[in-house]
Amino acid sequence: MTVTAPQNPENAAAAWAPPTTEAIPVLLYHSVSDTPMGTFGPFTVSRAQLAAHLDQILELGHQPITVRQLLDGLASGRLPAKPVVLTFDDGFADFAANAWPLLTDRGLAATLYVTAGDLGGRSEWLAATGVRLPMLTPREIADLAADGCEIGAHSMTHPHLDCLPHAVAYEEIRTSKDVLEQVLGRPVDTFAYPHGYHSRATKELVMAAGYRSATAVRNALSHADDDRYAIARVTVTSDFGTADIARVLAGEGVRTAGPRESWQTAVWRQARRLARPTGAGRSADGDRR
Ligand SMILES: [Zn+2]
Repeated sequence: MTVTAPQNPENAAAAWAPPTTEAIPVLLYHSVSDTPMGTFGPFTVSRAQLAAHLDQILELGHQPITVRQLLDGLASGRLPAKPVVLTFDDGFADFAANAWPLLTDRGLAATLYVTAGDLGGRSEWLAATGVRLPMLTPREIADLAADGCEIGAHSMTHPHLDCLPHAVAYEEIRTSKDVLEQVLGRPVDTFAYPHGYHSRATKELVMAAGYRSATAVRNALSHADDDRYAIARVTVTSDFGTADIARVLAGEGVRTAGPRESWQTAVWRQARRLARPTGAGRSADGDRR
């Protein structure tokens, strides 16, 4: 199979067109590894799996872009005819070792959201579940950014931000931006809510911290009128084959994001607040909501 893609979508503006009302898939990956770790297995895809997903995306004529390119495209009124946004959460070391080479081999970029408090260490927020994955170092993050990867923030310690006192949540949101900007020497203007959990207040804190956008999960397709501070994403789990990628790209079996959170989401937040009043609890799940 021969797959061709522009080396940099920003240089292919002539092929871009005004955004349509079509759904925009934003995919969310976590770990990319051939040796999945314990309870994080469902949120891990192998290198061969990611390679097959990327080839399927290109074969179907979709153009992978970053979150920044999505926002710029929506602002300027020009997006690829069939965009798909690739995002990777958490900042695991396996991104540089396993995912980035597969992306760059195909001339593709992505947005990587980094938990800034564990840079160069291990995924301490997963420690209670027995999973302590190696994290990227500051040097590796800087090299990835220099190589064209967009770096976004993902808090300092990966808490349930919507369950924290506002001052504590703001500290997580703002400090992760500062730490990454210090490492990169460039602005960090997109944020991903840990576990996808956010409320209206959380969104306002992200805006106050100076971010231009934020991604949630919602397991729905985004679109041109989606909330810029809760962009809908679809979690790619370990059981995703190329047919599942094709299905999501075609919008089959996956809804398009609505304007508001569901009542189930609000009820679930209340249950988490009651279960852990400080909101500092650790959980094994990936970024689900
Ligand atoms: Zn995460």
